[in-house]
Amino acid sequence: MVKAVLTDIEGTTSSISFVKDVLFPYAKKRLPSFLRENAEEVKEILKEVEAIEGKPLSLEGAIDTLLRWIDEDKKATPLKELQGLIWEEGYAKGELKGHVYEDAYRKLKEWHQRGIPIYVYSSGSVKAQILLFSNTNYGDLTHLFSGYFDTKVGNKKDSTSYEKISERIGVNPENILFLSDSPEEIEAAASVGMQVIRFAREGENELIEGFPFQQVKSFEEITII
Ligand SMILES: [Mg+2]
Repeated sequence: MVKAVLTDIEGTTSSISFVKDVLFPYAKKRLPSFLRENAEEVKEILKEVEAIEGKPLSLEGAIDTLLRWIDEDKKATPLKELQGLIWEEGYAKGELKGHVYEDAYRKLKEWHQRGIPIYVYSSGSVKAQILLFSNTNYGDLTHLFSGYFDTKVGNKKDSTSYEKISERIGVNPENILFLSDSPEEIEAAASVGMQVIRFAREGENELIEGFPFQQVKSFEEITII
C-alpha cells in the first residue's frame, strides 16, 4: 500500500533540458551583473567564496572565480546560494517559468486530491525546488507537496538517505513510492524497502533492458491503489 509518494524532479516531474538548458545558463548569464548590482546584499556569500579560494578577492575576481566554478561544475555552497537568488529574481520578474510535464501535473493533482501526501527529493536546494514549483507553466503547485528534501538529508544514491526521509515523514519505506529517472537512486531506495518506479521519458532517458524494477515513460502509466 502506498501512503506517501516521494518524487525526483529532473527527468521525472520536469524535463532535464529545462534545468540544463534554461535554469543554469540563465544563472550564468545573469551572475556578473547580479553581483555588481547586489554587491552589498551578497557580501556574506562572497566571503564564503574567498574562504574556499583561501585569499581575498575583488568583486571582479569573485565573479571570475564563480564563472570558473560553473565551468568546472564545482558543487560549492556559495555558488548554489547565488544561483538560487538569481533564479528567485528571474521567477519574480516572470523571466523564468518552472517546467512541469502535463502528465506529472495531472497525476500529482489527482493523488493530492485523494489525500496521498507527496514529497520532493532533488539535488537542487529546497529553496530552488520551491521556486520551481511556485512558478510553473501550471501556476503555483506548492500546495500539492507536503515537504521537500535536498542533499542535506544525504546523497541521492545513498540508501541511508531514504531511511532518513522515511523517518522524517513518519511513513515506513514499504509504504513510500519513490519515483526517479536515475537507476542508482531507484536501487538505493529499493534497497531500504521502498516501492520504486523508474522514469524513462521519451527523448530524455532510455528504458534499461533487464532493469529489475518497473519503468514508465509517463505518470499516466502509474496507478496507486
Ligand atoms: Mg532525476
